[in-house]
Amino acid sequence: MTQLPAFEQLPAAQGVVSQKKALRAAGLVLVAGLLLTGLLGWNVWRNARMALEQQFALAANERIDRVRERLTLQQSELESVRRFFENSDDVSREEFEHFVSPLLGDTLGYAWLPRVEQHAREAFEERAHVDGMLDYLIHELDSQGRPVPAQVRERYFPVLYGASEYLQELPLGLDLNSTESGRELTQQVLTERQLVASIPVILPGAPPADAAGVLLAAPFYPRPALLGPTAETRAGLQGILLAAISYRLLIEQGMDADSLAQLALTLRDSADQRADVPLYRSAVLPVQAAELVAERHLDFAGRDYLIRIEPSADFLKRNQGDPQFWVVLGGTLTSLLLAGYVLTLLSQRQRALQLVAERTAELRANQLELQENQARLHFAMDSAGHGVWDWNVDLGKVFYSHAWKAMLGFRDGEIGTTTDECLRRIHPDDQTARCEALQRHLRGEAPLYQSEHRLRCKNGRWLWVLDRGQVMERAADGAPRRMIGTQTDISSRKAAELELGEVNNRLHGLLDAATQVAIVSTDLRGFVRSFNVGAERMFGYSAREVLGRPVPENVFVKDEIRRRAHDLSQALGREIRGFEVVGALVGEGHEEHEWTCLRRDGRQLKVNLIITGVRDSSGGLIGYLGIATDVTLRKEAELELRRLSVTDALTGVHNRRYFREQLELGMARCSRSGEPLSLVMFDIDHFKDINDRFGHEAGDTVLVTLCQRVAQRLRKVDVFCRLGGEELVVLCPGSSLEQAARLAEALCEALRSHSIEGIGVVTASFGIAGWVAGESADDLMRKVDRAVYRAKRLGRDRVERDEG
Ligand code: GH3
Ligand code: MG
Ligand code: MG
Repeated sequence: MTQLPAFEQLPAAQGVVSQKKALRAAGLVLVAGLLLTGLLGWNVWRNARMALEQQFALAANERIDRVRERLTLQQSELESVRRFFENSDDVSREEFEHFVSPLLGDTLGYAWLPRVEQHAREAFEERAHVDGMLDYLIHELDSQGRPVPAQVRERYFPVLYGASEYLQELPLGLDLNSTESGRELTQQVLTERQLVASIPVILPGAPPADAAGVLLAAPFYPRPALLGPTAETRAGLQGILLAAISYRLLIEQGMDADSLAQLALTLRDSADQRADVPLYRSAVLPVQAAELVAERHLDFAGRDYLIRIEPSADFLKRNQGDPQFWVVLGGTLTSLLLAGYVLTLLSQRQRALQLVAERTAELRANQLELQENQARLHFAMDSAGHGVWDWNVDLGKVFYSHAWKAMLGFRDGEIGTTTDECLRRIHPDDQTARCEALQRHLRGEAPLYQSEHRLRCKNGRWLWVLDRGQVMERAADGAPRRMIGTQTDISSRKAAELELGEVNNRLHGLLDAATQVAIVSTDLRGFVRSFNVGAERMFGYSAREVLGRPVPENVFVKDEIRRRAHDLSQALGREIRGFEVVGALVGEGHEEHEWTCLRRDGRQLKVNLIITGVRDSSGGLIGYLGIATDVTLRKEAELELRRLSVTDALTGVHNRRYFREQLELGMARCSRSGEPLSLVMFDIDHFKDINDRFGHEAGDTVLVTLCQRVAQRLRKVDVFCRLGGEELVVLCPGSSLEQAARLAEALCEALRSHSIEGIGVVTASFGIAGWVAGESADDLMRKVDRAVYRAKRLGRDRVERDEG
């Protein structure tokens, strides 16, 4: 048996992923996605942070450098003022103002504070008054900030003159030594003999916003060339050049508001312990959370400043795009989508696998059922005597069933699985036809393959088989892949067919040998199935022109057919028409009828046709077999005989027998129709005398002549007969007694009035009688006989009726 694919081997359950597993996989994808997103986000954040740090460092350094430059510039500017003093003999206020005015850009002001010893205080004030400063007074500020004359000190450094663009009024006369910080500064200047910065101070007279600042002091010593070479003078400090520097102006001057808003800057004096009071604090607030700080120490004329820069919210906003937020958002969404996709995919796959598993189970069940059915089919086929073959075209193998092998006398093991097992056993004469039939089916030209051929059995004998098959499976290009068929032993049928063929041939020979008999078979509609030589001869048609066609219409006489149909319809009580008229009475036996037939050349034939029904194996009528014999000659002879048997040989009129027949028939007809019937009988008068006188022959002539004369006067329906001797009778159907009387009178007169040549007038005595219903023929005859006798008795040559 051809094995169906084994579905058991399919990995049905292997790939089935449970819903749980799908969820787990989706979870894993989500976690991995989120991890990657985190990593990426962190990386992006780090890069952004680094960029921010770099940006911040850049900006902070720039600001710090700028502050440093400004501080350095302040020192160099003050140095240049000092060198100006050193190079001048005496510097007037105007010269001073003229020199420092270009340097006032970001310096609050410059001032010249000469050294005034206690002893020279008054003289100094005097000289100031002389120089035009009438209110000039070396003073200091009290606790309320009001100017009061300076206390007596060893040495004063009062402001003599100065220049400023910011201060409305210069604190002229204010002694630097009047404050603690001032004293500290002057002390430092004296000690260090170079540029010195004060501790942070509140600059007097400055607007409050710019008041926080520092005083930068430069000592002025006269040049040795100018003062002479004494050590004392060399060491003598002439005064102090002072620059008042506002931190705000120093840091903010020349910067636009936008740049200022970027960074929060604080400036401290390292020596100043008060952490919360810086020298300067920018207006913008630092964002400490950003954890970005840049700190530098700046040296400023002996003081150490700590500058601290932090980013402002504005800076962060401008430089911090939070790209990691979008990365994390995008990554999270992607992970979610990916997890969802994986879940869907796995669920779909699971569903698909589930479907595959279900279909596999169905297929397995179907396969089992198919195998069972196949087994049952083979069993049934085997039991029914059919061999089964199953040809796998691809493999070139054929399965032959047990019955197939047994049919040829082989056991199971004796036949292989090649096509050759069958092919080489086929009879050489049958090879071609069988091969053509198979090819026709394989090419798709015939829906079934069917062949009857002979196979050689194991014992060498030939076995007729009916081989039928069909392609069950074709490849995409239509090439056959599998074909199944059955093989049936038809040897007995073949033998019967052969025998039947022989019988048929014999029968045809026989039929054709019967050349004097027409043998024609038809179907029920009258289509000719066989037409033998006898039929050809009899009807003048060739078998070739009538076979398969209706019996030629004009073979039968139409009237005869119509009459026959009418008669049969009446007899059978149903309408008979068409070709049935020929075989309507066939029934179980046969029907014999004589027909007038017309040959093809128009000659009429009388044919005796015996019709027999042709039946199929179940007894059903399928046609007619007609055997026709030409009876024309016989019929003519019969008619002649008949004519002779009812005709009087001498006179040619009907004889007594015919009269009796006609009388009976007439009586029967009239009794049905009610019509009258009469007889006219007459007897020649004295005929014996005629014989005697003129001879017997003359008597015969008289008889003949007389009959002719009477016959001339009769109607067609009248029947004229010679009853015997010279006694004659006329049967008058439809005539009443009176009409018969008139006829008799006319006949009597006709005889009387014409003489016969050589003989003379010959008369006759007439008797008439009318038939009475119910009366017998004999009674009627007796009556008319009596009437004739009465005419004889009453004188002859007259007409008499029976008087009873
Ligand atoms: P009636 O009838 O007038 O009384 O006289 P009849 O001479 O005719 O009567 P009858 O019956 O005695 O005679 C009949 C004769 O007719 C007798 C017979 O010889 C003759 N006859 C009968 N048949 C034939 C026939 O066929 N030919 C001839 N020539 N004569 C016949
Ligand atoms: Mg007579
Ligand atoms: Mg007579």
